[in-house]
Amino acid sequence: MSKVLIIGAGGVGRVVAHKCAQAADVFTEITLASRTRSKCDAIAAEIQRPIATAQVDADNVPQLVELLRAEKPKLVLNVALPYQDLTIMDACLETGVDYLDTANYEPLETAKFEYSWQWAYHERFREKGLMALLGSGFDPGVTNVFTALAAKQYLDEIQELEIIDANAGSHGQPFATNFNPEINIREITAPCRHWEDGRWVETPALKTRRDYHFPEGIGPLGIYRMYHEEMESLVKHFPSIRKAQFWMTFSDNYLKHLEVLQNVGMTRIDPVEFQGQQIVPLQFLKAVLPDPSSLGPLTKGRTCIGVVAKGVVDGQPKQVYIYNICDHEKAYTETNSQAISYTTGVPAVVGAMMMLTDQWRGEGVFNMEQFDPDPFLATLAECGLPWVAVEGEQWLRL
Ligand code: NDP
Repeated sequence: MSKVLIIGAGGVGRVVAHKCAQAADVFTEITLASRTRSKCDAIAAEIQRPIATAQVDADNVPQLVELLRAEKPKLVLNVALPYQDLTIMDACLETGVDYLDTANYEPLETAKFEYSWQWAYHERFREKGLMALLGSGFDPGVTNVFTALAAKQYLDEIQELEIIDANAGSHGQPFATNFNPEINIREITAPCRHWEDGRWVETPALKTRRDYHFPEGIGPLGIYRMYHEEMESLVKHFPSIRKAQFWMTFSDNYLKHLEVLQNVGMTRIDPVEFQGQQIVPLQFLKAVLPDPSSLGPLTKGRTCIGVVAKGVVDGQPKQVYIYNICDHEKAYTETNSQAISYTTGVPAVVGAMMMLTDQWRGEGVFNMEQFDPDPFLATLAECGLPWVAVEGEQWLRL
């Protein structure tokens, strides 16, 4: 019997609820809780199996503890926002429940992405015999597991890592983000950092651009270097990595809108006085931008997210490119969500399956690359996200 509690009823929460419901042998009972209960009820109504719903403010530990004591789940799948990670981990510790999320903790007042806060929970989870799995989305998440696969199966050691995230889809809107706009814009406008020779090198946001030719007919797209959280755990767990970079595609149109919004102060995260009230411009912007979940029926095209791992085999240079391609319209047909939510929600469910079936088990706080990639990737493919590995004898230039 494995009862799960999903917290968060946004785009990712919808996919997680649909996919957990499909795997009735693992997830015997499901409760979906969020700040707005009507959103949970709307998702539950789309799904054939009964799904219980609840209201919870996940910023409030006593409320979470009360819910966990009432529901008694085996595992919490946290797909609310990064701001809630620590409160949900606190409640899990207090009630003896395992924990999983898809994005690392971020304090509301600073756009600061690092694992230190959550890694600091390791001893407390270990002492209680509990497991927390961090970053079980696509990136972070599957990209960490692809890296573990490259190290296990393709290379003697990884020396360079490029994580490349392309959204080659289009929703036809002048400007919209594919997941929570506040989190998305905080991430994209943060200074870029990449790992080089044992230290982080900081450069201005979105200033380094290259062209990359994506496979399977997607073709050439402009990619921009930015900071992304999985690099922090990957360079820790694979110390042979000398250089790690993360790249993402953005259209010229998207970048032009973002530049204007930044120039006029709409991406600020500090409160400003407006008509006697304190408002945060980015939170106001989120309120007027299209809700990412409304983009599902509009989005066409594909995503392509993967890692290029470069290293040596028997002293000879070698590289492997491991990627997944996901179709927005297929994802929507199956789960009423576009591929960005789908590629995040499916790995969250697969991570939960690994924990609940004890294929991945440990006491403490873990990142995805610390476990055997094989069972995860086999299940991921069965659950709708197959992957491809292309080996090259030489280091191909990006
Ligand atoms: P959404 O904004 O669509 O959904 C977030 C949900 O969390 C909403 O239902 C919201 O409730 C709920 N929520 C927010 N605050 C609270 C709170 N205090 N208490 C209870 N519920 C709350 O976001 P997404 O679904 O797009 O993203 C979910 C998570 O997935 C985010 O952490 C995001 O960073 C992560 N992500 C990870 C990716 C990866 O590859 N690893 C990629 C994309 C996203 P309400 O609707 O009432 O506001």
